Amino acid sequence: MRLVTYAARDGASHLGALRDHGVVDLSAAARELGLAREIFSSMSSWLESGPNRLIDPARLTSTAATSALPLSEVRLLPPVPRPGKIVAIGLNYRDHSTESGAAAPPKSPIIFSKFTTSIAGPEDAIVIPLGNPNVDYEAELAVVIGRRGKAIPAAHAFEYVAGYMPLNDVSARMWQFADKQWVRGKSCDTFCPTGPHLTTHDEIPDPHALAIRARVNGVTMQDSHTGKMIFRVPELIEFISASITLEPGDIIATGTPEGVGAFRKPPVFLKSGDVVEVEIEALGVLRNPVVAAAG
Ligand code: ZN
Repeated sequence: MRLVTYAARDGASHLGALRDHGVVDLSAAARELGLAREIFSSMSSWLESGPNRLIDPARLTSTAATSALPLSEVRLLPPVPRPGKIVAIGLNYRDHSTESGAAAPPKSPIIFSKFTTSIAGPEDAIVIPLGNPNVDYEAELAVVIGRRGKAIPAAHAFEYVAGYMPLNDVSARMWQFADKQWVRGKSCDTFCPTGPHLTTHDEIPDPHALAIRARVNGVTMQDSHTGKMIFRVPELIEFISASITLEPGDIIATGTPEGVGAFRKPPVFLKSGDVVEVEIEALGVLRNPVVAAAG
């Protein structure tokens, strides 16, 4: 399934399945079938509903499919509007570790956090904060957790994954480097665009077999492959969950490949009017315009 969180004309937020002809309201489809529609009332209830969630009510009913809303009539919101936490991984691609000037690639995962108020959707703008602190893009594969767990062995890690989506780990380099740790530079409002949809794990047999790219104004800036991660998804889940409980809706941002703006010669930073795209094979294109904060 390709799942979206969207606002229809009524302004309310719904969980939908993305189809070629538009968005199907999953709660309405479930009601028609007499299924437990509360499971499909929002992304968070779907994520918490466990193994039953791979039932796709929109595939079982013809009426719901024909009543799909065209994308032009909905506003796509962040697929996971308010995750419990966003765990991000630093320097998880060798070539990016090298371009950043690190003497050697990390020997164990470097984890940091982005505050959840940084979440933005596929139709939102990235807002450059006042002071223009050298804002940069980072194309990343996001893993969405679908089951609560602690001390999860790598061999069982995929049982805890609900799905995947493109994520842009937007970073204010001036603040990231000046502060010595990264939270402020990585957590500004709108600095975590995600989407356009969540693709369920059953449709992605191997998350390390996907091309990953970033473009700014149509120019390719990052062009890599998720197979190049130093620490792969199962190892990351094992490492994080050894000491931190993972819960449905938590997002793991798995790190970015080489080609970020800060380490280009000369450096390239985002400016008002730019359009940034993160594209991951089989997961879609996340496209956000860039604007400067009013003030
Ligand atoms: Zn990153």
